[in-house]
Formats: sequence, structure tokens, C-alpha cells
Amino acid sequence: MANQYYDQVNNPMIESSLAVWRNYDGLYRLVGSRCTTCQHNFYPKRDACPLCHQITLESVRFSGNGTIINIEQDKIPQITVVGFRNLLPRNIAIIQLDEGPSIIGEIVDCGHRIPKVGERVHSVLRRLSKSSNQTWKYGIKFLCIEA
Ligand SMILES: [Zn+2]
Repeated sequence: MANQYYDQVNNPMIESSLAVWRNYDGLYRLVGSRCTTCQHNFYPKRDACPLCHQITLESVRFSGNGTIINIEQDKIPQITVVGFRNLLPRNIAIIQLDEGPSIIGEIVDCGHRIPKVGERVHSVLRRLSKSSNQTWKYGIKFLCIEA
């Protein structure tokens, strides 16, 4: 008997809603994990600590506050990200959260100003891209904190 979900399983352009559902906490609420043995934080979630190899990790919700440690302005239209060509250029940054982990994210609502390394940011929930069934996918982006 043929697999009735052949197209969904073998087409990489069709997203798995199940995978999104599994990562729901991490995608929308910035939930990672903390090793109860060595106290290191990880994002996204892990099942085992890569530092002390223990499996005693607990979920932790990060504050969303962090610092830009690297930033790049993206001026090339993204083919795979539908719906954002009119918003170029985009500021893509590596943000180190106050709790330790680093995240790649977009800096939004800063006008034509390019944020600088060392600026403080906090996380917000925004549209990420349009999925294959024309619904919007949401996720974490970052907003500059005015000093
Ligand atoms: Zn550990």
C-alpha cells in the first residue's frame, strides 16, 4: 500500500505542522533548557547537556532581553521567504540573551538606522514568512531598547 502522504513527506517545500507544534514553546515563547547540574542555558531546547553530558535538563523561559553581538544588513531579496521583498533591507543580527544563549534574529522597527553592536534589544512576536498554504508563520524578532 502506497504512502498516502507521499507528497508531504518527500517534498521539502511543504512544512511539517507537527514539527512546528513540537517546537511551539521555543518558537513563540522563547523557551529553552537549563542543565540542573552545571547551570548552563541552551536555546533551542536540548535533551542532554553537551558540556557535562547529563540528561537532567529543565525548561526555562528566557526574558527576551539581550545584546547585539554581530549584525548584517540583508539587501538581497530572499526567494524562499515570501512576502518580505518590500521590506528590504532587513537587519539580521546575532543576539546574546542575558541568560547566555545566542540567537540569530531580525531587528525590526529601527527605520533606516542600522543598529550597532552592543545595543540592547528585547524579543517581540512578529510575522516570519508566508507558508505554502498562504498562512503567516509567526516567530521571535527583536526590537531595539531606546536608551
Ligand atoms: Zn550540564
